[in-house]
Amino acid sequence: MTEPVLSVFETLESEVRSYCRAWPVVFEHATGSRLYDEHGSGYLDFFAGAGSLNYGHNNPVLKRALLDYLERDGITHGLDMATTAKRSFLETFRSHVLEPRALNYKVMFPGPTGTNAVEAALKLARKAKGRESVVSFTNAFHGMSLGSLAVTGNAFKRAGAGVPLVHGTPMPFDNYLGGRVPDFLWFERLLEDQGSGLNHPAAVIVETIQGEGGINVARAEWLRALADLCRRRDMLLIVDDIQMGCGRTGEFFSFEEAGITPDIVTLSKSISGYGLPMSLCLFKPELDLWEPGEHNGTFRGNNPAFVTATAALETYWADGVLRERTLAQGGHVEGALRELCAEHARLGATYRGRGLVWGIEFAHKERAAAVSRRAFEHGLLIETSGPEGEVVKLLPPLTVTADELDEGLDILARSVRET
Ligand code: PLP
Repeated sequence: MTEPVLSVFETLESEVRSYCRAWPVVFEHATGSRLYDEHGSGYLDFFAGAGSLNYGHNNPVLKRALLDYLERDGITHGLDMATTAKRSFLETFRSHVLEPRALNYKVMFPGPTGTNAVEAALKLARKAKGRESVVSFTNAFHGMSLGSLAVTGNAFKRAGAGVPLVHGTPMPFDNYLGGRVPDFLWFERLLEDQGSGLNHPAAVIVETIQGEGGINVARAEWLRALADLCRRRDMLLIVDDIQMGCGRTGEFFSFEEAGITPDIVTLSKSISGYGLPMSLCLFKPELDLWEPGEHNGTFRGNNPAFVTATAALETYWADGVLRERTLAQGGHVEGALRELCAEHARLGATYRGRGLVWGIEFAHKERAAAVSRRAFEHGLLIETSGPEGEVVKLLPPLTVTADELDEGLDILARSVRET
């Protein structure tokens, strides 16, 4: 399994001139929780397309729906025209997601990827409030285009833009408060110092659990205090649920646990369910401010993605089974990580997470890198995250079986032991 880097891979890397994930094999096909390389070796996938494959690779129900649609010569590219595939998605999203949660959002399709949804959210908030700055948090990740990068809390990534990005006002995320009661007094002082007028932020953008930032879990009471602050201080609350939404934390929306209702929500990654590009920006009806054509783009009507997204909602969100299963499996992972960290206390490892997203932070980033390398050698794909890459991140598909989950946790434990 640990063959040297293949020449075709080197060619790809030199020609494409891009960041390439570090696994030194060429992957060929995938099903469920497993990827296979071109020589037929299988790898348990606890990375799941960075959270884009919550229902696994080539989920058979979604695949069948997609193949049926294509065989009927369904529309593949629909710009933002009304299509039957789009209508079915909207109806199913309303009946299976919004109505059961008593959420009243308008839905817009801002483009193919997550950063498109974040750009739309930021633009809308600025237009609604007539102000430009948006509060964001340390270690946040919201995307790579200029607006989303301006609210991303990672200097290395921001430096890619060449010159400093304005419009973002950084604040400390919950985990920097050292477990104290969140009162936000300091934040309010700061808002008063800046005065009202144009300096006052239009919005706050937050991830309930920071994925790329290192699986930092905001406490429900911190999120509630933040939502309350936004309401009192005339700032819109944007929850970026691109990585933590679509059931990753157990609930469909990760903010449900805190009982808050954001003004704007962004979704992408697992919304199509099949790894097809699709993103959504949900906003409260009073924020429906754009004239037709004021915010548009070519790839906003990925009809095959609407088809798989509809099938995913019908299959997994008509009842509470996936939620229950995710929470139960999350409890199982938590128990295993508790044991692992206790056994290896000398490594200063700590763990955190919820549902089926977990992070193990090591005192040194080299250890995290070594653990994921070793895990790959044993047939488990895991990634590192966090400001320095010191957090090993576990994101199995939500459809992972109990046996696969145990197999992955065993490989992880073995890899920690061996490094
Ligand atoms: N927001 C969050 C929370 C993310 O995790 C990501 C991607 O990892 C993005 C936005 C950007 O999404 P995309 O890479 O599809 O543009």
